Amino acid sequence: MSNLPSEPEFEQAYTELVSTLENSTLFEQNPEYKTALKIVSIPERIIQFRVVWEDDKNQVQVNRGYRVQFNSALGPYKGGLRFHPTVNLSILKFLGFEQIFKNALTGLNIGGGKGGADFDPKGKSDNEIRKFCVAFMRELSRHIGADTDVPAGDIGVSPREIGWMFGTYKAAQNKWEGVLTGKGGSWGGSLIRPEATGYGLVYYVEHMIKYAGQGSFKGKRVAISGSGNVAQYAAIKAIELGATVVSLSDSKGALVAEGDKSFSPEDVMAIAALKVKRKALTDFDHSGKYKYVDGARPWTHVKVDIALPCATQNEVSKEEAEALIASGARFIAEGSNMGCTQAAIDVFEAHRQAKKSEAIWYAPGKAANAGGVAVSGLEMAQNSQRVPWTSEEVDGKLKNIMEEAFKNGLETAKKYVKASEGEFPSLVAGSNIAGFVKVAAAM
Ligand code: GLU
Repeated sequence: MSNLPSEPEFEQAYTELVSTLENSTLFEQNPEYKTALKIVSIPERIIQFRVVWEDDKNQVQVNRGYRVQFNSALGPYKGGLRFHPTVNLSILKFLGFEQIFKNALTGLNIGGGKGGADFDPKGKSDNEIRKFCVAFMRELSRHIGADTDVPAGDIGVSPREIGWMFGTYKAAQNKWEGVLTGKGGSWGGSLIRPEATGYGLVYYVEHMIKYAGQGSFKGKRVAISGSGNVAQYAAIKAIELGATVVSLSDSKGALVAEGDKSFSPEDVMAIAALKVKRKALTDFDHSGKYKYVDGARPWTHVKVDIALPCATQNEVSKEEAEALIASGARFIAEGSNMGCTQAAIDVFEAHRQAKKSEAIWYAPGKAANAGGVAVSGLEMAQNSQRVPWTSEEVDGKLKNIMEEAFKNGLETAKKYVKASEGEFPSLVAGSNIAGFVKVAAAM
């Protein structure tokens, strides 16, 4: 990669995957996979384009749009669109790269991709966001299709934006097809898709807790970061299962429930509704209920059994990982993509090998947050059949997929990673190897 511009986020995601493959017996057993690794690290195609749109003052604005079509060995490119001012090729390549292996772990026939724009929806009117979505899709529509590349939402792109883009695609291509997922329920969306990433994360962690012989979510204290769609439904499901949820956050600060208090489902929904309107957490009337910590993430302000980073990449540092462990946290699972820095992962992985009663178990986003894209895959299946499934059907399939993703990571780690007697298998190594082997074999 030496003659390429620096791509720190992509290099972080790539190095993380490769280090786990190299520390296993995979390449000894399958030397041909070294070539597969070289091939899989380069996107099949990258589309870059300009997006020109008009703001409410009739001024012309321009942004950069992208779609990284990373790997289609298992099916059409699949992955979200992110609208955020930080978006660049390094971030989209890291997200697209993770998506390849995450999608493989769902067991569905979906390849990996990611896209988006450096457009900042914050401070824009609804009309301006709609105009941006139309202009963005007018260009992207010629590069995607239900059997080619199926985008969905990510940070800054919710069902409303998907709706504006879906309408634009339909008009531009003169056809109704399942080209985007995360659609509204009355026009081709799947039930449980909004809940899927958060619910799936909790289903995955349930298996970790059970395997560790530590009961269930009932009575456990859970810290969650973020307050978007993933955080919201992770909190709702954890509370439903009897857990105490002690935090939510946004880019400006964290809300923390003190003592034995938990967030209530009503407050979680009220906060999420504010976030859809792009308001700050401080706009939520928390007086007498929760403490607001300005400019902080929750990790150093809580005492919990389980931590679920659900905001964005690199949101847990080495120091925060150490603070979580010192406060008693035993299970860490990412609802966000690459939520933990490599230094934080190293801290968690070092403690995985501690005595079982003190051991820490970390699950990477590419396994633990696969529920969102999994239900997107189920939405594609329903669109192809022209038949919607019930919530029970979709939720049942989501539960199975999360169980299989957990078992696959676990069994693959046992097969390829040397471990000491009694330690938890490495879910990060197992998930990376399992996802990679499936794609490499298909290629
Ligand atoms: N953005 C989500 C993810 O990171 C969902 C992608 C999709 O549904 O295609 O997995």
